[in-house]
This record gives sequence, structure tokens and C-alpha cells, in this order.
Amino acid sequence: MRRRIDYLEKALKDTAGIDEKQLAANIKAAGFKCKKCAQCCKAEYGDNTVSVFPREIRSICEKTGLDKEEIVIPTPSEDTDSEGNIHTFEWVLRREGDCVFLKNGLCQAYECRPRICKTYPFYLQDGHLMVSECAGLGEETSDEESKKIAASLKERYVTEIRESIMLLERFRGFKPGGRGNICVHDSEGEHWVYSPYIQYR
Ligand code: SF4
Repeated sequence: MRRRIDYLEKALKDTAGIDEKQLAANIKAAGFKCKKCAQCCKAEYGDNTVSVFPREIRSICEKTGLDKEEIVIPTPSEDTDSEGNIHTFEWVLRREGDCVFLKNGLCQAYECRPRICKTYPFYLQDGHLMVSECAGLGEETSDEESKKIAASLKERYVTEIRESIMLLERFRGFKPGGRGNICVHDSEGEHWVYSPYIQYR
């Protein structure tokens, strides 16, 4: 565990060396303009899983007036402890096939949507720009938009590493003992829930 945390702490330090200007230039070279097709939110076009961190969940709840149970479920998992309780890491947005926030082709949580949605189709891996499939790629992107995406991308990457460190610092293994039969491990510790509340789709 300590080794993994050390690795992540080094990765966090290294984020200071990520050149946002270069990142923006690479985004501009890839070209992107959201076509508002919402394919990334729909089940029929592939994996539309969206992981969300505790702070993002709170922000969405505040802005939409919805309860946590209405917007997220524990990340599906097959890991169990000695008593058969399921253990998992982090939360994902609820889906009814498509994301629950997608209504008539529009995101009902657009202003407070998770970082993954804000930065799609881009992400950083080991500090390098990666690009997922998207109908909006290859389109002309303004300098301003490229810079905006680069800044969001770096912020997302730093947040992901920080969240992982905090999660590991609080992680005590897959142990029974909570009130519930599913335990979600995240950066704020363990959250035990009962399975009737879960509907994996
Ligand atoms: S939160 Fe909004 S942008 Fe993200 S997957 Fe759901 S509908 Fe799409």
C-alpha cells in the first residue's frame, strides 16, 4: 500500500511539470467541437460509465436538489469480504441504460456535470494526452477553447491522483463490520449501504 501511495505522490509532484500550453496545442491539433450528439451519455454507443468523486456528488446534489441515492450507485464489483459483503471503490452515476441526467438529448446537470463529462473525449494518462472515440474529433478548436480544455484536464488529473491517495490512506482492506452489505471505499473512507438500494444496470 505504501509503495502505491509513494508512486501516486510522485505522480502528483510530476503534475507541476505538465505544460498546459503544450497540452492546449495538442488538443488543438486533435481538434474537437462537441456536436451535442450525447453519444458519450448513451448506452447504445458503448461504455457510458461515469465515475464521480464525493465532492462532485455533493455539488450535483446541491445544484439539482436530488439525493445522493438518486444519482449514484456503488461501482459494480465482485470483491467480497469474509462475510460475503461486497466491497467496491468509488461511485458511478446512475444509468437507466443512458445516464439518468440525459433527457431529450440534453444533460440536465450540465453546469455541475462531473469532470469526466467536462473533459470528454480527452484524458491524461501518466501525464500524457489520450483521446477516446468521439464524433466531435477533427473539428476546428479555438485557442481559447483548447486552453480551457487543457486547464480542466490538468485539474481533473490532479484531482484523480489526490482522490486516489486519500482513498488509499483511509483503506483498511476488505473487512466486514459496517451497517450494510455493500461497502464503498472512497477518499472519505468507508460507506456501507444495503443492497435493496442498489440496482446495477
Ligand atoms: S452527467 Fe450529463 S454529460 Fe455526463 S454522462 Fe450524464 S448526461 Fe452525459
